[in-house]
Amino acid sequence: MNISFLSVIPEVFGPYLDASIMGRAQEAGIVSFAAHDLRRWTHDRHRTVDDAPFGGGQGMLMKPEPLFEAIRDLSSEEPRPRVIILSPAGRPFTQRDARRLSKEEALLLVCGRYEGMDERVYTLADEVVSVGDFVLTGGELAALCVADACVRLLPGALGNERSAADESFEDGLLEFAQYTRPASFEGMDVPEVLLSGDHGKVDAWRRQSALERTRRMRPDLLAEAAGAEGEEVR
Ligand code: SAM
Repeated sequence: MNISFLSVIPEVFGPYLDASIMGRAQEAGIVSFAAHDLRRWTHDRHRTVDDAPFGGGQGMLMKPEPLFEAIRDLSSEEPRPRVIILSPAGRPFTQRDARRLSKEEALLLVCGRYEGMDERVYTLADEVVSVGDFVLTGGELAALCVADACVRLLPGALGNERSAADESFEDGLLEFAQYTRPASFEGMDVPEVLLSGDHGKVDAWRRQSALERTRRMRPDLLAEAAGAEGEEVR
């Protein structure tokens, strides 16, 4: 999979993407990343990417010309990337989107800055994605969230394929509670069943734990969870 970023601060991506699981996925040839500087597609001496909004108002907007030129250039490459613009006004990004996008051959993640982009730029997007109902100063962190969530689903990226399958949201529920050593810590004991070695009982306990945690922390998910209907939450 190829993932490209388009940004006015392309230098911010490397430190994250070259470390840990993302770095190893690159070394293993599972993914390749490229961060492009939007100013490459400017033609004035000051390499201008922003301008004042028509109608007045606070701050500056990203001009359409460099973004149009850059997105057209980068999306004409083979394999043709799916163009995703990051915006707080986009559709909320979910684990289902991460699964779907992880099957694409190439993504181009377009990061806004300032007060956002000239509205016409969105006509170039295959999709407009938000990472949550809050406003970041730029799309770079949002793009990294999307890239990370997709890459960790690629075969071989995590080393242990089970770890992605068990996780929160994969079956519409939050993940079950987990514990490691010591079995007793500051008066809090690990549930006996997890020490029993009985895999059937452990699986049943985990299902209940997932249901209980979802009910407590994200009741909105429980209403939608496939297969959760009729199950009793103890
Ligand atoms: N004025 C814009 C608004 O109210 O919608 C906010 C612009 S924000 C300061 C600058 C850029 O950060 C956006 O163009 C977008 O690329 C990115 N951004 C901010 N919050 C985001 C979010 N929750 N999800 C995705 N991108 C976001």
